[in-house]
Amino acid sequence: MKNDTQPPRPASCSEHLCATLDRLGVPRESKWRGLILYMRSIKEYDFLDAAQKELIQKLVVSVLKGKDFSEARFRELVRQNERILHDPWRRKMAATLKETAKLVGEMYQLFGRRRGDVEDLEATTVQAVESGKEIEEVIGNIRTGFRDMLAIMEKDVDILQELSLTDALTGIGNRRAFDQLAGEALETAGRLHDPLSLLMIDIDHFKVFNDEHGHRIGDQALATVGSLLKDFAEDYATKDGVNVTPTRYGGEEFTVVLPGVAKEQAGEMADILRSKIGRYHFVIRDVGGQIVSSGIKIKVSIGVAELLTDCGMAADLAHLVDAADKALYQAKAQGRDRVCLYDPSLSSESLRKKNGRA
Ligand code: GH3
Ligand code: MG
Ligand code: MG
Repeated sequence: MKNDTQPPRPASCSEHLCATLDRLGVPRESKWRGLILYMRSIKEYDFLDAAQKELIQKLVVSVLKGKDFSEARFRELVRQNERILHDPWRRKMAATLKETAKLVGEMYQLFGRRRGDVEDLEATTVQAVESGKEIEEVIGNIRTGFRDMLAIMEKDVDILQELSLTDALTGIGNRRAFDQLAGEALETAGRLHDPLSLLMIDIDHFKVFNDEHGHRIGDQALATVGSLLKDFAEDYATKDGVNVTPTRYGGEEFTVVLPGVAKEQAGEMADILRSKIGRYHFVIRDVGGQIVSSGIKIKVSIGVAELLTDCGMAADLAHLVDAADKALYQAKAQGRDRVCLYDPSLSSESLRKKNGRA
C-alpha cells in the first residue's frame, strides 16, 4: 500500500519487513514499528527463557491479527510485555515471600515474647519484597533481618540461661547453678585426682534476726552476705587463681566450691570468710532507702569437707554435701560463729542431739 503523505519508514525497518508491516496495516508511527521490531529482536536476548520468548511471539502475532492500533491497545501491549518480562522475577519473589512468611509464622509461635521484633522483621521483609529492588539486594536485606533476629534470640537464650542459674535475691548462683557447677568441678577433680573442698555456710540465729528486724531487712542481710561471698570469690580468683564458686544453696544457707583446694587450706579460707562476714557492719534501710540503723552484725557457721578424703570411694556430690553438712552441724553444736572440718568419727545423730535439732 503506497501513501506519499505517510511519515518516512524507520531506519531500522528493512525494506522487506516494512513492506510486510504496511501490508498488515501497522501504522508508520515509530512507536508501533519500533515496538514490533523490539518484540522481534527480543527472541535473541539470552536472559529470557524459551517460555518468555514464546509468549512475546504470541503477543506480536495477536496484535498484528487484531489490527487494533489504538492508543489504548498500545498501552495494553506495553503492560503485557512488561508482565512477560517480570513474571519469573515475580514468581521467585512470591516463593521467597511465601517461604519468609512461613518462617516468620514459626518464629511467632516460638518466640511469642519477641513479638514486637518479629513483627518488625515481618514488616521489613514485606517492604524489601515490595521495594522493586534487584532480587539479590532484596534477598540480602531479608537475610540481614533474619541474622539480626537470630543474634537477638541467641542473646535472649544466654540471658534466660543466666537467669535460670542466678538467685534473684543475692545475685549469686542458685541451687541449680550449684548442682551444675559442683557436678562439673567434681568430675574434673575425679578425673585429674585433684583435691576439691566444699564450704557449707549457715547464718547463725537468722530466725531471731528476722523476728527482730523483719523479713524485708532479713532479705537485705541475705543480699549483703551474697555480695560478700562474691567479693571473697573474686579476691581469690585474682590473688591465687582459685576458681571459687559461691552459690545460695537455699534459705540462709550458702555454699562455696573450692576446686584444687585441700581441706586444711579450705578451712583457713573458710575462717577468713567467716571473720569477713562477722566484721561487716550491716546497714538497715527503710522502704524509702534511708539508713535507719548501721553496725548490726551477722555471724555464720561453716562446715568444710573434702571430696576424696571425706567421701572415699563414694566421691559424689551427695556424699560431699552430706559431709560438709555434718561439719556445719558440728560448728553449730560447738557454739556457732566458727568453722569445723568434717570429722568422720562423729555420727549425724550425735550431732543433732548436741545441736538440739530435730
Ligand atoms: P541456726 O543458727 O541454728 O542456723 O538458727 P537459724 O535461726 O538461723 O535457723 P533456722 O533454720 O531455725 O531458721 C532459718 C531462718 O531463715 C528462718 C527463715 O525465716 C529464714 N529465712 C530463710 N530464707 C529466707 C529468706 O529468703 N528471707 C528471709 N528474710 N529469711 C529467710
Ligand atoms: Mg539453716
Ligand atoms: Mg541458720
